[in-house]
Amino acid sequence: MIMNKSIEEFKKAKKYLPGGVNSPVRSFQSLNCDPVFMKQGKGSKIIDIDNNEYIDYCLSWGVLILGHADQVVTRSVSNSIRNGTSFGTPTVLETTLAKMIVDSVPSIEQVRFVNSGTEAVMSAIRLARAFTKKKKIIKFDGCYHGHADHLLVSAGSGLATFKKASSNGVPEEFVNETISIPFNDENTVNTTFNKFKDEIAAVIVEPVPANMGVILPRANYLDFLRKITTENNALLIFDEVITGFRSGIGGIQSFTGIEPDLTTFGKILGGGFPIGVYGGKQALMSLISPDGPVYQAGTLSGNPVAVTAGIATLEVLKQNGFYNTLNKKAADFESELKKIIVNKDIQINFFHSMFTIFFTNSPISNFNDVNRCDFKRFARFHNMLIEMGIYLSPSQYETNFI
Ligand code: PLP
Repeated sequence: MIMNKSIEEFKKAKKYLPGGVNSPVRSFQSLNCDPVFMKQGKGSKIIDIDNNEYIDYCLSWGVLILGHADQVVTRSVSNSIRNGTSFGTPTVLETTLAKMIVDSVPSIEQVRFVNSGTEAVMSAIRLARAFTKKKKIIKFDGCYHGHADHLLVSAGSGLATFKKASSNGVPEEFVNETISIPFNDENTVNTTFNKFKDEIAAVIVEPVPANMGVILPRANYLDFLRKITTENNALLIFDEVITGFRSGIGGIQSFTGIEPDLTTFGKILGGGFPIGVYGGKQALMSLISPDGPVYQAGTLSGNPVAVTAGIATLEVLKQNGFYNTLNKKAADFESELKKIIVNKDIQINFFHSMFTIFFTNSPISNFNDVNRCDFKRFARFHNMLIEMGIYLSPSQYETNFI
């Protein structure tokens, strides 16, 4: 496959952008090759600047559930832009999308729009700390919740006395109140709550983690988290930035029946534009400024173009049969893939239309398991697929989408 233009453009980009990119995984650094520069997308396909075509299983990291340049979304956005791109005032569109979310997600009565998943999580945690008047947060190794300082904690630092930030530039003091422990392990959660009795403000979790590849929660694990947080007057936050509206209308909570206190969304809800959302019961949300004392604001929050794209996307998702068709496609794909990998030291974790192919012979249920995978083999596999016109998310730690 000829990729001369991508190679050339990457050289130029590296001159003006750190690492040549605006988000690290895009650089293909862990794959030991240059990234591909895309110029166009339609449906499930993307085309690079050398005119190579790929089936896209990354889909802008799970954003594009309707595929690229969906007609309904594109038409709505074009109309919206003609009316102006930002007013810095309330718009009717914001109320429309807020109502659509509230009608879809059982635990949510009010939402606040922001511009990214990072902002949504950061704000939800501030709200949880204000509500509980406690400081500590429990997160899980390998779950990613954006790049706010206090969430960049190294995996495994859980109960260690000195916490370690996973990024330079994050002072120890900022991560001291964040405890990172293994996912799918009830004992460690119990021990942590015992050790820090009355100090835990919230447990934040991706209910189906997708940032160490797809990991399925063990039976009753989410119920257990609901129970232990309630017993300890801590809030449960579901970070559904990836899982929200991916498997069905609403979040994981819509079909598990487990209601978190706060939920964060992003990605799909912006229909390809920057958005983040956090929401919960009114009693909690009313603490947010201007109703309450928890300050949080944004110049472009609730931007009319992003919100229009979100409304158009949700209208399509709400059509009868949308998820049945998507999930059936995913199930067919899963059964074909699983036939191919028999006896090949490969595990595939699927959750509806999300999947990760892990290069190992043992089952994957937490971050430590993922770290035992053969990353060199993943890199060879990824590069081979690129040659064949198949674009997977470019890391063993990432999720692919249908
Ligand atoms: N939370 C989860 C579960 C995510 O997967 C991500 C990003 O991938 C974020 C939060 C941060 O979202 P953003 O990249 O929009 O800041």
